Amino acid sequence: MLKVLKFGGTSVGTLERIQNVANIIKDIKDDGHDVIAVVSAMSGETNKLLEYADHFSSNPASPEIDMLLSSGERVTSALLSIALNDQGYLTTSMSGREAGITTSDAHTKARIENIDVTNMRNAISDGKVVIVAGFQGVTSNGRVSTLGRGGSDLTAVAIAGAIKADLCEIYTDVDGIYTTDPRIEPKAKKLDMISYDEMLELASLGAKVLQTRSVEMAKKLNVNLVSRSSFSPETPGTLITKEENIMEKPVVSGIALDRNQVRVGLYSVKDKPGIAASIFTGLADANVNVDMIIQTVGVDGVTDLDFTVPKTELDTTKKVMAHFVNDAKKIDYNEEISKVSIVGVGMKSHAGIASKAFQALADENINIRIISTSEIKISMIILEKYSELAVRALHEAYNLDK
Ligand code: ADP
Ligand code: ASP
Ligand code: MG
Repeated sequence: MLKVLKFGGTSVGTLERIQNVANIIKDIKDDGHDVIAVVSAMSGETNKLLEYADHFSSNPASPEIDMLLSSGERVTSALLSIALNDQGYLTTSMSGREAGITTSDAHTKARIENIDVTNMRNAISDGKVVIVAGFQGVTSNGRVSTLGRGGSDLTAVAIAGAIKADLCEIYTDVDGIYTTDPRIEPKAKKLDMISYDEMLELASLGAKVLQTRSVEMAKKLNVNLVSRSSFSPETPGTLITKEENIMEKPVVSGIALDRNQVRVGLYSVKDKPGIAASIFTGLADANVNVDMIIQTVGVDGVTDLDFTVPKTELDTTKKVMAHFVNDAKKIDYNEEISKVSIVGVGMKSHAGIASKAFQALADENINIRIISTSEIKISMIILEKYSELAVRALHEAYNLDK
């Protein structure tokens, strides 16, 4: 079998951890499999590099940030290659460029456009373990680019798809996908399987265990994706697969928490056609990712409008909103909120799922500010200080610990 393995930041966080990864790869190679390993930077490294840049500028050029950040994953790929090679294995480390990954020129959030697998294939034919620096590629201008935070997951899935690997295993610091973040709810249960769509919702609603775009890509390219632990590699992980492969479909599969949201409130906005259109067009043009939107019924020619944006896009949002100060009595920004969501494919065919969530939060005296629903998820904006309580209350309400 050809396996693509990805090792995240904590899995390569120290020299001992890198040695541990080398041992995992050795075992898989000794079992007769071909291996492409994708590695992240050592944990904390990417943030440290960003702080270095921040020391010199509050607005550094994005191509320079990519030059800087891409170095983190190159360090680990070279070290892992050296460690394995010293144990008698043929290895080669590759940057994104050497691995044939070309991207758009949207620096710091580039999209993978093509993967030319020739170099990787040749190295595999030579019997080598290929070790790819994750999270990066090269633009058509020949500049190094990065794929957005958590992007090594995407590198691994995209390579697995392009080279038609049999399996893509994402090794991290927990042994799979749980019903909720096990660091918040110790009673969370590991799932044996989860559908691409549910995983996509969980990831985009805040469960950072897999990067959202990597799940999207896995679904599109039909990659057999497994999430598992480098700390206990003997424990089987969670398979992320097509919905039809899952026999017993749970009504609710998991709870996600996103603390990275800000609620923007506009009070007494003039209730006339075109206001919402110009606000949201302005935000879209500035590349702000607006999430939940709620507008109350107009009274006396005015109405209230609330929406949420990611905290990282707050400065840009404020700049855009400055154009609308005369259209509302007041605009305010509340960063002390979070979004808690329940996800499950079974919601499509079951009634009473939402009311159970609202009751569970009401029983804990937690006020819900905004609600939004789709076919397989319900999201609620609450005060941030109640985040963990809300996650645990919902986890219990749907019996996810059973
Ligand atoms: P890596 O550095 O390996 O990429 P991440 O820190 O990005 O790892 O993701 C792993 C973390 O995701 C876990 O430590 C866990 O706290 C968190 N997490 C959030 N939601 C879940 C979930 N539903 N199941 C498992 N882990 C989760
Ligand atoms: N090192 C990058 C980050 O911290 C990419 C990754 O780990 O996947 O976001
Ligand atoms: Mg990650």
